[in-house]
Amino acid sequence: MPEPPNKGERIFRGIPVSAGVCRGKILVFGRTRPSIIKREMSDGDLSEEINRLEKALVQTRHQILGVQRKVSQGMGAAEGSIFDAHLLVLEDRTLLDEVVRVIQQEKANAEYAFHTVAERYAATLAAIEDDYLRERATDMRDVTSRVLNNLLGVEAEIDLRHLKEPCIIVTHDLTPSNTAQLDKRNVLGFVTDVGSKTSHTAIMARHMRIPAIVGLKTVSEELETGEYVLLDGFTGMLVVNPTDQTLFQYGQIMRKKVSLEEKLRDILLKPAVTLDGQRVLLSANIEQAADAEAVKNSGAEGVGLFRTEYLFINRQHAPSEEQQYESYREVASALKPMAVVIRTLDLGGDKFLSHLPMPTEVNPFLGWRAIRFCLQEREIFREQLRAILRASAEGNIKMMYPMISGLDELRQANGLVEEYKLELRQQNIAFDETLPIGAMIETPSAVIVADSLAKHLKFFSIGTNDLIQYSLAVDRMNEKIAHLYEPTHPAIVRLIKSTVDSAHRRNISVSVCGEMASDPVLSPLLLGLGVDELSAAPPLVPPVKFLIRRLKMTEAKDLAEFALNCESASEILVRCQELAHQIAPALFEEK
Ligand code: PEP
Ligand code: MG
Repeated sequence: MPEPPNKGERIFRGIPVSAGVCRGKILVFGRTRPSIIKREMSDGDLSEEINRLEKALVQTRHQILGVQRKVSQGMGAAEGSIFDAHLLVLEDRTLLDEVVRVIQQEKANAEYAFHTVAERYAATLAAIEDDYLRERATDMRDVTSRVLNNLLGVEAEIDLRHLKEPCIIVTHDLTPSNTAQLDKRNVLGFVTDVGSKTSHTAIMARHMRIPAIVGLKTVSEELETGEYVLLDGFTGMLVVNPTDQTLFQYGQIMRKKVSLEEKLRDILLKPAVTLDGQRVLLSANIEQAADAEAVKNSGAEGVGLFRTEYLFINRQHAPSEEQQYESYREVASALKPMAVVIRTLDLGGDKFLSHLPMPTEVNPFLGWRAIRFCLQEREIFREQLRAILRASAEGNIKMMYPMISGLDELRQANGLVEEYKLELRQQNIAFDETLPIGAMIETPSAVIVADSLAKHLKFFSIGTNDLIQYSLAVDRMNEKIAHLYEPTHPAIVRLIKSTVDSAHRRNISVSVCGEMASDPVLSPLLLGLGVDELSAAPPLVPPVKFLIRRLKMTEAKDLAEFALNCESASEILVRCQELAHQIAPALFEEK
């Protein structure tokens, strides 16, 4: 792209989080609200206002049930159950009683009363530093605008699950559950004011292959629905009103991309092996059973991380042991004999259950999350462990715990696994007696005591997304400090090396399943540091494999040696880029 912008264009720059280029009309989401005016009603009109309110509530309920039915049929029951939370708002007696009180006491019209009360609830929830409660505020606002539209007799506002035509979504923020609901056929891309590369929303955009940019600050306030933009998910540039010249330049980029895609297709079924013969296990990260297909199409050799929490969020009830068993079994048998590493529930941080209110925490990423949650919520953990164990009879399953921070947690979790194995034996239910158990290494304390952990485990999987945030004290969700979130920080390089050394001393393997493994620029560094396996988002498996097949292990080891002796994150990054660009220029030409 030329600098400065071509005449008539406006350019916004943000953080590119999901590769790809798209262009089209934008749809600004979450800003328009019907204007609500207070009208003074006479005493005689008040019961009519209450009637209107009740009718609008019934009408809204029908609409939501209709949408829910369509979504369940088209996308699956889990997606459909998202609307249960919306239906609950309509049944909230405290809220509705208060609306009726405002109608009666202030002699107000129904839309004013409903809007005032519901907005007060939503604003209170939205102001709390807690993603779960903020999501409830979003649910409440969704439902409120439906009720108001029905009271005012106006057409419903945009529904992200059913878009009439292809568009690029522009919004302040999208939660992981919003992202899961996007109408994939009609969302060309999305951009948000806030967010960062390793937020779960960004991770999901990559999985869904939707080009996306986050951290564009005020874009959702500055743009209007209907404006035409070009979104470059490679560089993080959003061009409003692109000129013919810009579109032509991007046309050329897209042609190069097509030729790269052909090259990537050629190696789909070939192994990830370096030029000097080192075989690398390259697997994929998934979030639901249906992703098994994407794993096969990506040329990955199994699943290195199954983020099971997505089976739990966006639904009214926790999935039963049976439902979980079905999902795990489905993936394991679809990919047999390839391995599937199932991670036990990693809730908390930015992922919450809609059916289980979790306490508001000042620091949710340092709070009641992952293994800490599971060790206390024993019944939820028991059902999941039994489901995983049972599914292990049907394929090549491995299991790992998230966010282990010390030996005690590991002992407790392993103790529970033994207890549930005993239960299953007594019930004559089959499972793999030798199910390999590993742990994610994503806290500095786990790295430091890795030699102790290794005695009780069959493998480590380094979760660099969290390891970076905890080691560098940089919130992975905060765009203001995104520049400090540096995967090539010397501390991170040394932590990875130390983890590898502890694992190899005990003859156990180490993989990396954080986003570092999905970046072809960084994979030589990881391999040079001795990492045995990389697990990437399915769309990024082919470029990582492409690069591995052009790499010599001697180059990777030299790079790691340099990084271990270097004191600057940016110098390490530049070296990584130089090597990757030199050995696989085709991967970078389009950017
Ligand atoms: C990680 O922390 O690197 C990881 C893979 O786990 P998640 O991104 O789900 O926290
Ligand atoms: Mg993690």
